[in-house]
Amino acid sequence: MGQPLLVLKHIRREFRTGEDTFAALKDINLTIEAGEMVAIIGASGSGKSTLMNILGCLDRPTSGEYSVAGRSAADMSPDERADLRRDHFGFIFQRYHLLEELTALDNVEIPAIYSGRGPAARHRRATDLLSRLGMGARLMHRPNQLSGGQQQRVSIARSLMNGADVILADEPTGALDKQTSSEVLDILKELNAEGHTVIIVTHDAGVAAHARRVIEISDGDIVSDVRQGAETAAPSVNGRNETGAGRRGLAGRLGGLREAARMALIAMNAHRMRSFLTMLGIIIGIASVLSVVALGQGTSRSVLANISSLGTSTLEIFPGTDFGDVRSGKIKTLVLDDVRALQMERFAGDVTPTVSTSSTVRLGSTEASVMVNGVGDRYFAVKGTQIRQGRFFDAESVRSIAQEVVIDDNTFRTLFPLRTERPIGTIILIGKVPCRIVGVTGAQQSGFGASQNLTVYLPYTTVQARFLGDSSLRSILLRVGDATPSSEALVSATRILDQRHGRRDFFILNTDDIRRTITSTTELLTLLVAAIAVISLIVGGIGVMNIMLVSVVERTREIGVRLAVGGRSGDILEQFLIEAVLITLIGGILGIAAALGFGLVFNALVSGFSLIYSPVLVALAFGFSSLIGLAFGFLPARSAAKLDPVDALAR
Ligand code: ADP
Ligand code: MG
Repeated sequence: MGQPLLVLKHIRREFRTGEDTFAALKDINLTIEAGEMVAIIGASGSGKSTLMNILGCLDRPTSGEYSVAGRSAADMSPDERADLRRDHFGFIFQRYHLLEELTALDNVEIPAIYSGRGPAARHRRATDLLSRLGMGARLMHRPNQLSGGQQQRVSIARSLMNGADVILADEPTGALDKQTSSEVLDILKELNAEGHTVIIVTHDAGVAAHARRVIEISDGDIVSDVRQGAETAAPSVNGRNETGAGRRGLAGRLGGLREAARMALIAMNAHRMRSFLTMLGIIIGIASVLSVVALGQGTSRSVLANISSLGTSTLEIFPGTDFGDVRSGKIKTLVLDDVRALQMERFAGDVTPTVSTSSTVRLGSTEASVMVNGVGDRYFAVKGTQIRQGRFFDAESVRSIAQEVVIDDNTFRTLFPLRTERPIGTIILIGKVPCRIVGVTGAQQSGFGASQNLTVYLPYTTVQARFLGDSSLRSILLRVGDATPSSEALVSATRILDQRHGRRDFFILNTDDIRRTITSTTELLTLLVAAIAVISLIVGGIGVMNIMLVSVVERTREIGVRLAVGGRSGDILEQFLIEAVLITLIGGILGIAAALGFGLVFNALVSGFSLIYSPVLVALAFGFSSLIGLAFGFLPARSAAKLDPVDALAR
C-alpha cells in the first residue's frame, strides 16, 4: 500500500523542569504501517505516553520529523492537526476521560459535533457503535452510573465515531480487572481485524502479547521491536470516514453553535447556584438601569402632562421681579387694564386675570380651610381643567359679581363625604360669603400624586369685591394664540407691560421654558443615575469574567478531552464565549423581568404617576447584556482556547 502510515525520524522530546531540561524521548525512529496492531511497552516513566501524544498529534517533538501518510506534522497548522485528530485518530485513555455531565450517547457524539455531522446521523451512528460494544441498554447513563469497563467501552465508541484509521490506546486496561481487560483487548483486536491500525501503550507484558508487534522503550529509547506471528498487513482502512469534507458549511456551523449552547446550558445546570450568583450582578444592573430610566421617563411625562394641561403654550404674568420677591405683595400695579390691553393684541388667545386668598368653607357642621381662586371665565379653558358635574361660570357671572363657585374634587370629597348628595345648587359658606355651587372639577394632578389642597374657584370680580376689597391682581394668565411662537409673545407682552407700567415691576413665566427645563433636568438626572447603574453592570460583567476564568481552570480536563477528540481551539473559544453570553443574556432577561415586575408593583401602589418602560429600552437592555457576555467572556474563552491539549489532559 505504498508509503507507510506513520513515520518517526530522530524524534526527541524534551521537557523543561525549572533550570534543567529532561529528554523523555531521545532518538526515536519508528515506522508503522496501516493495519498494524502494535504494542508499545515499557516501565513507568519510560516515555510511552509522550510518544503516544506525538503519534496522535496532541504534542509536538522538540526535534525530529513526524509524518502522517506522507504529510509532515511540523508543516501543519494547529487547526489541521486538530482536524487530523478529529477525522483519523481515535484516543482511548486509561482514565476514560469521559465528560461527567453528559450521557454515554452525548459523549460518543462529541467528535461528530466537531466534524459538523447532523444530529440524526450522529445519533444513529453513536447508538450503533454503543450497541455493538454491548452498551445499547445504557445510552442515557452518565459516566458515574457506569462501571470502569463500561466507561472504557463508551470511550472506545467515541474514538470510533469519526472513523479512526488509527486507534491510540494509552494503557486502556490499566484501571480494569482481568476479565474486563481481556474483553476490551478483544474489542481492539476485532477493530484491528476490520482494518483499523491499533497502537496500544502498556506496561503489562500480558497485554502486549495480544499484539503482533511489540516495541519496547526504555528511558526514551527503543530497545527492541519484535514482530510475532505471520501476517502483518490487514486490509487497509476503507472509506469509513465519510466525515471531514464539507464540514464548515453554514449548517455545520449553526449546528456547532447550537451544540455549544446546549453544552453551556448543561454546564450551567450542573452548577445552578454558581450560575445564578454569577448572573446576579447582571440581573441587578439591568433591572436598575431599566427602572431608573423608566422612573425618569415616568416623572418627566407626568410633569409635562401637567404643564400641557395649561394649553399648548401659556404666559403667566406675576408682580415682582421673580418668585420670592418680598415686595410682590405690595405691588399693586398689575390690574385689569393690563388684561384688557393684552386682550387687544393679536398674539393673545385667551387672557384671564387671577386673584387669590385663603379662607374657610363650611357646609352644615363641616368646615375646612380652602384656597379661594378668583378667575375669569376663560381660566378653565386656558388651564384645560375638566368639569365633572355642573358647569363653569360664564362671562355674565363675572360681570355681575355672582356668588357662584366651582369646587374641586378635594373640596367635594370634604363637604360631601357620602358622595350621594347632589352638590350642584347647594349653598356653601366661604368665609362669610354664601355661594352657590355651579360645578365640580375632576381630580387635579400635580407633580407627584394627587394634590391634597382644597381649592374653589369664584369669579375674580366676586373675590375682589367680597374678600379682598382691592383691585390688584395676583397674576394674569395668557394663552398664546396658535399663530404666534411663545418666545415672540413673551417679547411683545413684556414690551406692552413695560410701556404701561413705566418700569419692570412684573415677571413672566413661559410654560415652554418650564417644559424645556423640566425635560432637560429629568434627562440629566436619568442619565446620571443610569451611568451609575451602567457601572454596576460593568462590575457584574467583571464578576462573570472572574467566574468564567475559574470555570476554565476547573474544566481544564474537559477542554483537553475536547481537543483530543478533534475540537479546534476555535471551537473551545466559541463554546466558552457562548456560555458567557448565555449567562449574561439569561441574567439580562431575569433583570428585565425583575424591572417589569417592580414596575407593576410600583404602578399599583403609587397613583398619579407611573414607570414607563419603552420597548426600545428593553431591547437595548437585552442587546447590552449579551454584549457584556461577549466582552467579558472573551478573556476566559481565549485562555481556554489557548490551553495545550497534553497539559490540559494531564491535569
Ligand atoms: P510513561 O511511559 O509512564 O507514559 P511519560 O511519557 O508519561 O511516561 O513520561 C516520560 C518522562 O517524561 C517521565 O519521567 C515524566 O516525568 C516526564 N514528563 C512527561 N511529561 C512531562 C511534562 N509535561 N513536563 C515534565 N516532564 C514530563
Ligand atoms: Mg503513561
